[in-house]
Amino acid sequence: MDASDLIDQIGGTPLLRLSEISRDLPDSVTIYAKAEHLNPGGSVKDRPALRMINEGLASGALSNNKTLIDATSGNTGIAYAMIGAARGLRVVLTLPANASEERKQILRAYGAELILTDPLEGTDGAQARVKEIVADDPDAYFYPNQYDNDANWKAHFDGTGAEIWRQTKGRVTHFVAGLGTTGTFMGTTRRLKQENAGIRAIAMQPDSPMHALEGLKHMETARVPGIYVPEVADEHVVCRTEDALEMTRRLSREEGLLVGPSGGANVHTARRIAETLDEGIVVTILCDTGTRYLSDGLYTD
Ligand code: PMP
Repeated sequence: MDASDLIDQIGGTPLLRLSEISRDLPDSVTIYAKAEHLNPGGSVKDRPALRMINEGLASGALSNNKTLIDATSGNTGIAYAMIGAARGLRVVLTLPANASEERKQILRAYGAELILTDPLEGTDGAQARVKEIVADDPDAYFYPNQYDNDANWKAHFDGTGAEIWRQTKGRVTHFVAGLGTTGTFMGTTRRLKQENAGIRAIAMQPDSPMHALEGLKHMETARVPGIYVPEVADEHVVCRTEDALEMTRRLSREEGLLVGPSGGANVHTARRIAETLDEGIVVTILCDTGTRYLSDGLYTD
């Protein structure tokens, strides 16, 4: 038999050449995107969620009689809920009540329990609520806290970064990723720079809050993620929201890639970097599937 567990399908995603998006660039400049939306949970967050759960099980912080709880704006929660369902773990998530209906339905479909927090308090409110619940009964819960958990960036160090190095045969010259918890950027960049210190890493933040890309600019009232080390980036750039949305639409229509807007922001930024080069290989991330944003009307004019 040639079969495997669902969980074994996390990671090992394809690296796609974006031919239409880079058509007018010289042949010596290429843009590639890591198709993280093809993970079984539909996003880049399957990788850190699995690593945090595995480390929790290995250390004893998580077991079958404990409940996994975390604050998540969506994709990490979906990953926890999917892995929890496959592994028989109870999952409770706090999220702002204005999270999209699709997202809530997906989480509930996997059997996760949702605690909705005040939308005006945003992700801060959801995080504060988790801390209260855990403080009330610390032994009942496993709280991975993706913002401060090194397993988050390490999943990308051992996975995403190592895969990009291998898939480009070590020819990658630039890496672009948006900042949410910063795990993708930190882990992938550290791995690529370990392989070749000359690779340039560009950290992107949108000019207005965008799903899962709260970015540091939008975290002024919150604290900066504990796993974030700003010096790891060679450059920080801002992506205009309208440019991100336009690129998101181009990706679906011209490349057949129905992905979420943070992927559009990443590809727009990768293209801007590519335009400044005579030669190079620019790699970025398609963070999640676009099916989660259909009700936002992103793909229709
Ligand atoms: N885009 C989307 C759609 C995400 O769900 C996330 C994860 N929060 C990111 C971008 C940012 O990734 P990271 O948390 O690794 O910085």
